[in-house]
Amino acid sequence: MNRRIFLKNFAKSIAFTPFFLKDLYANNLEKHHFNDIDKNLNPVADVYLDNKYKYELLSVRNKLKLIQRHIGYGNFNLISFDRMLKVARYASKIQRFTKKELEFLESIFYYNPSSHGFFGNKISSNITDIIKSREVVKIPRTGHYLFKGQPEKTYYEMKKDIGNTIILTSGVRSIVKQTKLFLDKVNRTKGNLSIASRSLAPPAFTYHSIGDFDVGKKGYGYANFTERFALTQEFLEMKKLRYIEMRYTVNNKDGVRYEPWHIKVI
Ligand SMILES: [Zn+2]
Repeated sequence: MNRRIFLKNFAKSIAFTPFFLKDLYANNLEKHHFNDIDKNLNPVADVYLDNKYKYELLSVRNKLKLIQRHIGYGNFNLISFDRMLKVARYASKIQRFTKKELEFLESIFYYNPSSHGFFGNKISSNITDIIKSREVVKIPRTGHYLFKGQPEKTYYEMKKDIGNTIILTSGVRSIVKQTKLFLDKVNRTKGNLSIASRSLAPPAFTYHSIGDFDVGKKGYGYANFTERFALTQEFLEMKKLRYIEMRYTVNNKDGVRYEPWHIKVI
């Protein structure tokens, strides 16, 4: 069997601890009135990264950090899986990925995150999918890219209508880039996949790899990725624009937090 297909099946079967509690609870919910349930009770237990990948979480994050440093922040937004392997292999001071690290990377790409409360659509089907450089355009002074066509057009229209204080904070993200962001988040939540995926889509599930992008207020820093962005003049202006739609509204069905800064293009 082809190694990738083998790993794909393998990842589906055992990479993550099976999770049944949620189904049990869902059955109970049907039998009870909501009022009967203790409001403080967390109905769904959080799901954690399998302990057997504890070391790989650290080692892979470290390699991705080194690769990002090696090729530059901007280029890292577009880097493909196969190019990532090559850089790790040939750059000095970066070790090639081990078999277990690759197994971990593939499992984090191919597993089904609905097991921990993430219900967004699957966007990328192969870990080796690439972003063609002729399809994207670099946005000056941001370190980010946008897809040519609708995303680029929408962004510049926003700048024209709102002003130069609205800026691109994250654009095109390759599978590798999304993997790095997701693993950083999983690390910050100490392996809690349920919490991590509320604020960052797992690698195969981000709309950033097909056209969506994030905007913020110039000089607002990290607050651009918090609900505080919704209090800015830039956001108020943005809401008036009829061609703008938010991807992750309050209580969206994807299981993602409210993200007023994330622009839906596709
Ligand atoms: Zn976003």
